[in-house]
Amino acid sequence: MRLSRFFMPILRETPKEAEIMSHRLMLRAGMIRQEAAGIYAFLPLGYRVLRKVCRIVREEQDRAGAVEMLMPTIQSADLWRESGRYDDYGKEMLRIKDRHERDMLYGPTNEEMITGIFRAYVRSYKDLPLSLYHIQWKFRDEVRPRFGLMRGREFLMKDAYSFDLDLAGARHSYNKMFAAYLRTFARMGLKAIPMVADTGPIGGNLSHEFIILAQTGESEVFCHRDYLSFTPPDTDAAFDDVGQMQALFDKWTSLYAATSEKHDAAAFAQLAADHRVSARGIEVGHIFYFGTKYSEPMKAVVAGADGAERPVHMGSYGIGPSRLVAAIIEASHDEAGIIWPESVAPYRVAILNLKQGDVATDQASETLYRELTAGGVETLYNDLDERPGAKFAAMDLIGIPWQVLVGPKGLKEGKIELKRRADGAREMLSPADVRARFASTGTPGMPPAA
Ligand code: ATP
Ligand code: MG
Repeated sequence: MRLSRFFMPILRETPKEAEIMSHRLMLRAGMIRQEAAGIYAFLPLGYRVLRKVCRIVREEQDRAGAVEMLMPTIQSADLWRESGRYDDYGKEMLRIKDRHERDMLYGPTNEEMITGIFRAYVRSYKDLPLSLYHIQWKFRDEVRPRFGLMRGREFLMKDAYSFDLDLAGARHSYNKMFAAYLRTFARMGLKAIPMVADTGPIGGNLSHEFIILAQTGESEVFCHRDYLSFTPPDTDAAFDDVGQMQALFDKWTSLYAATSEKHDAAAFAQLAADHRVSARGIEVGHIFYFGTKYSEPMKAVVAGADGAERPVHMGSYGIGPSRLVAAIIEASHDEAGIIWPESVAPYRVAILNLKQGDVATDQASETLYRELTAGGVETLYNDLDERPGAKFAAMDLIGIPWQVLVGPKGLKEGKIELKRRADGAREMLSPADVRARFASTGTPGMPPAA
């Protein structure tokens, strides 16, 4: 992409309304724009990151055996009357009437709808286990939308739902999602720690929140320091192996980790002082096993091998991709701007033409841009008529992992400069060597977020 043809409205001033770094940086980098309290438009740069985040979420859901679908944002109130949550949900639910005065709502979550879909088709244990997911916008009329994408009113959620005949099956489904979550967040460069959690309005008795530590986090959390050096499961993790998944779950829940609602100060105090981490955290995912809480009132029953019908055991599993975009920035930035991990970066390489209009630099930049793009490397070419200082600042701000600096001085020696955004490391290389560096690892095209 040529920056001269892109749409990336960078702000010079730091927006005063933004209280935390990720919100400030996203506004300054032209990634998002507020349309109403807690409601944002994703501008092209922000949308690219959101799609990258969704791609990782999808790949790991698929790996764990969940099947993707798409449910609507607008739901009928009748379904929610069946579970009893239409009255219970309170003011966070945006209630709407259609032209026929029918009660509708903008979905804050989808337990009722998925249970309705399940019971319409599935009758037998032979069709189980089943896990379905979608990535769809949610609306919750939060009392205090704040911190940009971190706590929005309209936000993107990946929500998965598992269906099993009995508790043992449901445990395995839970453990598979648990493993998928560890991989998902690790691939985004995040250290997410599973913590015992309250089940809240979703209900149920087994629940973990996945928390990343950050000073600006809204939750107060307590955990054992060793979690910070645990390694996430590999690509060859056997999701269908009940024993292996249980062992993984047991290992990752063996040490103390809890949010303030579930905190046990006495148990925490038992840890050696240098093992105790007490910090702020951002919730990026939340998983629940809630058994028959919805299947019983909504009569989602399956026949077991003995022919007897019983309500299906369910779990639900949420990840907030839009919140994650902000959380990744909270975890990875410096004074100059964002530092994207390669896996979610909007582009992999930025070319900075340091003397726009000079025949030699223009030609070298254009050639490299064409070649990288043709090789499948996502490249942003800064071809604006600006001074080098302005280009350095803008590219540091938007945090693309690799910058290629093309200037007349280096070109005289046949060299261009490759700079790594994360630590500022620089190398002088020939254009051919720069190309070779990115040759075999180009990233494929991106599917839409939702
Ligand atoms: P919180 O305690 O932060 O309100 P929650 O427990 O209500 O979260 P869930 O219902 O479990 O959240 O939703 C699943 C995921 O959706 C959360 O882990 C989070 O990543 C994301 N999420 C929830 N509420 C919001 C929001 N208002 N804005 C952005 N993302 C959200
Ligand atoms: Mg909430």
